[in-house]
Amino acid sequence: MPNLRAAIIPVTPFQQNCTLLWSEETKKGVVIDPGGDLDHIRQAIAQNGVTVERILLTHGHIDHAAGAADLKEELGVPVEGPHEADRFLLDRLPETGLMYGIEGARAVTPDRWLNEGDTVQVGEVALEVLHCPGHSPGSVVFVSPSQRFAIVGDVLFQGSVGRVDLPGGDGKTLMRSIKDKLLPLGDDIAFICGHGPMSMLGEERRTNPFLVGEAFV
Ligand SMILES: [Zn+2]
Ligand SMILES: [Zn+2]
Repeated sequence: MPNLRAAIIPVTPFQQNCTLLWSEETKKGVVIDPGGDLDHIRQAIAQNGVTVERILLTHGHIDHAAGAADLKEELGVPVEGPHEADRFLLDRLPETGLMYGIEGARAVTPDRWLNEGDTVQVGEVALEVLHCPGHSPGSVVFVSPSQRFAIVGDVLFQGSVGRVDLPGGDGKTLMRSIKDKLLPLGDDIAFICGHGPMSMLGEERRTNPFLVGEAFV
């Protein structure tokens, strides 16, 4: 089984965890959520000698997607994800950029929308796609069951969960996504989230204040 390697590159004023993920064996990989600061992303690609084959998006928020159109043109690779329910967010990235004072945010239309049960390739490793709405309607999570690893975007964080007050967000839906789709993957799944440090699903199941107690049924 080939091993995956990851480099986390915090980008944008939101310190979003853009992730370069690649196969150790072939050095073929993906850039997940290039929200901006493309010079830092380019540097990580060069430093690790990765051949980027595609760009993956977990969801349509500006800190995750605003640099995708530029990076796609530069690398000549397709953009895959998120779920089409986030199309409205990707369409209005330039306007959202103005609102948040982020210059050069471009709209992007993915080459491939993702659905529950799809797979995406990272070199020779296939990641499974889970549709996990709630933070945004089109949020997706990428899982490698064999490597016990996931990229969860803004669905779940160490000690917290995604905010649900943005357009299309819904708290109940988010909790169902976490309880019905993420936690059943197993306590030993390590995950990279959109902001802040990595964690394990088991650690969150046991200690995350949003996931423990009677409210979480
Ligand atoms: Zn978000
Ligand atoms: Zn975010």
